[in-house]
This record gives sequence, structure tokens and C-alpha cells, in this order.
Amino acid sequence: MTPILRAAAFAAVVLLPASQAGAQSSTPAAPASQPAAQAAPPAAPTAAAAAQQAALDACVARLRTEAIARGVPRAAAERHLAGLERDPSVLESLDFQPEFRTPIWDYLAGLVDTQRVDDGRAMLERWREVLDGVQARHGVDPATVVAVWGVESDFGRSTGRKPILRSLATLSCEGRRQAFFRNELFASLRILAEGHVDPAVFNGSWAGAFGQTQFMPTTFLEAAVDFDGDGRRDIVGTVPDALASTANYLRRAGWRTGEPWGWEVRLPEGFDASLAGRTKRRPLADWAARGVRRVDGRPLEASQTASALLLPAGPAGPAFVVLRNFDAVYAYNAAESYALAIVHLADRLRGGTPFVTPWPTDDPGLSRAERRELQTLLLARGHAIGEADGMIGSLSRRAIRDEQARIGVPQDGRAGMKLLAALRRDPPAASR
Ligand code: CA
Repeated sequence: MTPILRAAAFAAVVLLPASQAGAQSSTPAAPASQPAAQAAPPAAPTAAAAAQQAALDACVARLRTEAIARGVPRAAAERHLAGLERDPSVLESLDFQPEFRTPIWDYLAGLVDTQRVDDGRAMLERWREVLDGVQARHGVDPATVVAVWGVESDFGRSTGRKPILRSLATLSCEGRRQAFFRNELFASLRILAEGHVDPAVFNGSWAGAFGQTQFMPTTFLEAAVDFDGDGRRDIVGTVPDALASTANYLRRAGWRTGEPWGWEVRLPEGFDASLAGRTKRRPLADWAARGVRRVDGRPLEASQTASALLLPAGPAGPAFVVLRNFDAVYAYNAAESYALAIVHLADRLRGGTPFVTPWPTDDPGLSRAERRELQTLLLARGHAIGEADGMIGSLSRRAIRDEQARIGVPQDGRAGMKLLAALRRDPPAASR
């Protein structure tokens, strides 16, 4: 798994919901995060497009030969690489730089909200027997497995709609990571040749992450598991396979059964914040000796276990001491904010509380329900932002900037609690 691209695939799903909305929504406003695409003329096939398609066809023909040479069965290579249409949108996603950096409190507010905690607890109940079996076989506890499932695909509800072969063929023949994507393309052909996944539903993110675990194809070949024993490793349509595959991935990434991920902690006055950093590992005893305590007041154990201190929003925000299992989650998707979302959601599924130390902001982030409410209020004011789907894309941001200008606050386009409160207080009828 290549962390950068794995993170990019994830970003398309969670950090930049508008591009995912583009993939999933049938409304014409869909490619909201890419205004350039909206400005383009309607898709009448031009001479340029025909030439690009012809170039792709020639490239795919070469890749078919290479795939067969690398051991992909000829029938599968011929069948699945036939008639693939170029998808320029995945090339845009490859080069897309977010114009808006999500603050960590917004990121966590959307990923670990009441709705996901409630859904996750229901899933723990519903899949208890399978999850117990997964724990017995792979050593990862049910709450952690369900937390990954909830963040990666909203418990299987949101797995991406881009045809994997079409995306990977385009990315294998154009753009700046062709060698990487060719490997993924060959892996995806192997997956189909082995019959693990139904080709009709072999869809996913623009970068090729698919299924309820959002594995890249090469990761699938390394880590996916046939838990229900039907001979197929089906992370798309078989929940037990998906849950066991996640646990197997985490175990291979170094998960230690029974060990906590870490704890929220409190720092002593005058603590040297330069000691923080996920790779600046010290024995737990060292933090304890420096006066770091768990936020519940209990001491850190005075052991030699390697650990690190995280200050995701600087010394004024919540602080965490993390152990090996945090790194295992980080391996799933190389972003500390991602790993923190997973381990915190897992804690909440076990009945844990929100973080004790507040984020250093007077304008907290919004849950998905609050984002939908904000969008509903924007729609009521006549902003054409598409559906109130809880995903804040560039159309929503533009509308937010307009409303921020109207009420005289800085126009940062951010969906925060202050703006929601202002719009709640000030219904459109009173303002127009
Ligand atoms: Ca299976």
C-alpha cells in the first residue's frame, strides 16, 4: 500500500467530500470540487477526445500483453480490458490540490459523530458473532474493526462508484504515477480472474480503492481474507470477509492483541512541546517521569513500552500518548488525523467519552447532521448547492462565503458552528 495514494484515495472519500459527491450523485452539480470541469463544454465527442481515446486503446492493448506476460490469465485480460473508456476525471483527482485545508476538529466532528457512534454500536451488535470470530482468528478487537469499517465506507454504504478498471487503465496510461497504477491494474485483473469480486460491482474511489475496506488491489492480494469459507475473498459483498480483512491488515501492520492504542493525556505546566511527534518514541516511563498523566488522572504505567506524544492541534489542544497499535492504524491510511479518528471512534463504541480537553477553537466543527442542516438553511436562502447531503464541497463553500459576507465575518468558506448558529437565528424570511 502506498501511503500517499492511499491517503489521496481516502481524501477523495472523506476530506474532500465534493469529489465523492461527484462520483456518487446523479445531479448535474456533481463535480462541485472541480470548477474547471463545470466550465467545459458538454461532452460532445471532439477530435481531441477521439485522439485521446485512441491513445488509451493503444496503451491498453500494450498493457494487456504485459498483463498476460506477468501471469494474468489471457481470457481475463481480454475480457476485462475490452472497451474501456478514458476517464479524465481521475486525472483531475490525481492532480487536485484542495483549496481548503480541513482543521482537525472539523475532520473529527464529521467522522466521529453521534450518527456514526450509534450506527457502529448497532453493527457491533448485529455482527457480534462474526466479530468475535475475527478477534479469535486475527487478534483485533471488534470495536477497532468496526471503527475502520465505519470510517472507510460508512459500514459498507459508501464504497465509491467509479469502475476500477476504467480508472486504473486511465491512470496507467496518463499522468504522473503510471508505474504505480499499472501494478494496481494487474492486481485488479488477478482479483477478477480469481473470481473474488463480481465484475459488475467492481467499483471504488478514483484511485482504485474498493470494497467495504477500501483496499487498493495490491493490498487486497496481500491482506484480504476469506472468512466465511466460500472460497472467495469478497470485501465488496461479504461483510465477514471485509471485517476479517481489516483485522488481518492491522495484524500484519503490527497490531498487538490486548494492548491499548494509547490515551488522552494532560501535560504539566511548562511542558516542552518539541518532544511531541509520532516518530519521537520514548519509554512510557519517561513521559510519566516528565509529569504526563492520563486525562482521567491515572498515572501512565512506568514501563519501557515505546510510546510517542501527539499534539495534533499544538500544545493548547488535546494531547495523546500513543503506542504501537496507533501506528498499526496509521499504516492503514498514513494520516495521524485518520488514525486518531479510528481509535477515538473505537473508544466511543466501547462507551468512552468525547475528548476531555477541548480543541483550541471557539467555532467547533459540525457533525454530518449539522452539515445537512446548514446546507438546508443555505438552500432555503436560495443558494444552488445541490442536495443537502452533508458533504461540504466548493458550491457549499461559495454559499458559505456569501453568507459570511452578508453577516460581516471573515469569508473563509468553512462550515462551522458559528455560521450554523447565525443562520438558525436569522431565517431567510426575516432577511429578505
Ligand atoms: Ca468469502
